[in-house]
Amino acid sequence: MLEYDVVIAGGSIAGLITAREVARHGLNVLVLEEDSEIGTPEHCGGIVSLKALLELGVVPDGMIMYEIRGARIYSPSMKSIDIPAKNVVAIDRRRLDKHIAKQAIINGAEIEVRTSMQDYQVLDEYVKIKTNKSDINSKILVDARGCKVIMQDNAKGSIPSAQYEVVSKSLDSSIEVYFNNIKYPSFFAWIIPNGNYVARVGVAGKNINSANTLLEFLNAHYDKYSITKQIYAPIWINGASKGFVKGRVVRVGDAAGQTKPTTAGGIYSCGIAGIFAGNAIASAINHNNLTLLHKYEESWLGKFGKEFETMLLARRVFERLDNKAIDDIFNTLDDSTIKEISTTDFDFHSNALIRMIKVSKALSIAKSILGNEVRRLFG
Ligand SMILES: Cc1cc2nc3c(=O)[nH]c(=O)nc-3n(C[C@H](O)[C@H](O)[C@H](O)COP(=O)(O)OP(=O)(O)OC[C@H]3O[C@@H](n4cnc5c(N)ncnc54)[C@H](O)[C@@H]3O)c2cc1C
Repeated sequence: MLEYDVVIAGGSIAGLITAREVARHGLNVLVLEEDSEIGTPEHCGGIVSLKALLELGVVPDGMIMYEIRGARIYSPSMKSIDIPAKNVVAIDRRRLDKHIAKQAIINGAEIEVRTSMQDYQVLDEYVKIKTNKSDINSKILVDARGCKVIMQDNAKGSIPSAQYEVVSKSLDSSIEVYFNNIKYPSFFAWIIPNGNYVARVGVAGKNINSANTLLEFLNAHYDKYSITKQIYAPIWINGASKGFVKGRVVRVGDAAGQTKPTTAGGIYSCGIAGIFAGNAIASAINHNNLTLLHKYEESWLGKFGKEFETMLLARRVFERLDNKAIDDIFNTLDDSTIKEISTTDFDFHSNALIRMIKVSKALSIAKSILGNEVRRLFG
C-alpha cells in the first residue's frame, strides 16, 4: 500500500500546478495521469496572455507559436470589427503542460503516466484511492480530471466542440471569431493562427453536431486545406461549481467548472486555482486542520467570483439574442467603443461585454431577461 500526503488525479494544467505548489512545501505528492504522455492529447486553442503565464510562474521560452495582434470578429451577416490585442499569444499547450510537470518534479512531486484513478473511498483519516495499478492511501485527494467530473453533476452546463489543426495556404494572420446563433448556438466558431500556414479551427454550440458543423465551416472558408489533427471535447460554460472542497477531496480546474463562461478559456483561471489549492492543502496538512482547505475556495472566488458571475449574466443575455440582435450590436459599435473594448484586460473581459450590450438594442433584451439584476450590471 503506497502512502502520500496528496494524490492528484489528472496531470494537466490544474493538477500539475497544484502538485508543483504542494511539493514546494516539502510534502509527498503523486500525480496520476491516465494518458501515456503529459500534454497529450492536446485539447486547447492555446490562447493566453503573457501576464497570465507569468502569474502562473511560467516563463514561456520556446512554447509561443504565434503572437496575436488582434481579433477580427464577424457578425451573422458577416460585418466585421477588428479588436487589436497586445501581449496575447498562442502557445504550444503540450509544451506548457510538460514545462509545469518538470517544475513539479524538480520541487519533489512524482508523476505516473498511464495510471488512472478508477475509484476512491473517503475514510476518517485518509482517502483510499484505487488505480489501474495499485491502491494508494492519501491524506488529501485532488480531483483534476477535467470537464467530465463537473458534467457528472450537471451535463447541461457543457456544449460539444470540435477543433482541427488545419494547414492551408490561404490562412489569415489574426484570430477570427464568427458569431451565428443558428449555426453555433450559445457560442461561436474560431480560427487561431499558429504561423507557417497552420491554424486551429474550431466550433462549439449547444446541441450541434460539432464534426459536421466544423466541416461545413471549413468548406465555406477554404478552397483547399488539409486536416492534420482532430479533437472533440465538451467545454464547460456554466460557471464554477458550488463548492470546491468536500472533506478530504478538493476539485481544481475544469473539474470545478473554473473556465470562463464566455470563451471557455481555462489556462489562467484553472492554473490560478492550482496555486491557491496547492497552498491551502499544504497549510491544512501542516496544521492538521482540514478547514484550512476552504482558504482555496475563498481566494479563488475573491479573484474570479464577481467576474464569472457577470460573464454568466452576459451569457444569459447572449443566448436570448437572435442573429438580428447580434448584428445590431455590431452596427452600433463605434470606433471609440471598440477602442475602449480593446484596452480592457484580456483575462477579465466582462466589462467589455457589458459595454457592447449597453450600446445596442440588446440592452432592452437584457433588461427583460435579467430584470433587477440588470441594474447592477448596466447601471
Ligand atoms: C477545444 C478547446 C479549446 C480551448 N481553447 C482554450 C484556449 O485557447 N485558451 C484557454 O485558456 N483555454 C482553452 N480551453 C480550455 C482549457 O483547455 C481547459 O480549461 C484546461 O485544459 C483545463 O485544465 P484542467 O487541468 O482542469 O483539465 P484538463 O486539461 O481537461 O485535464 C484533465 C486531465 O485529467 C486526466 N484524467 C482524466 N481522467 C483521469 C483519471 N481517471 N485518472 C487519471 N487522470 C485522468 C486527463 O487525461 C487530463 O490530462 C479550450 C478547451 C477546449 C476543449
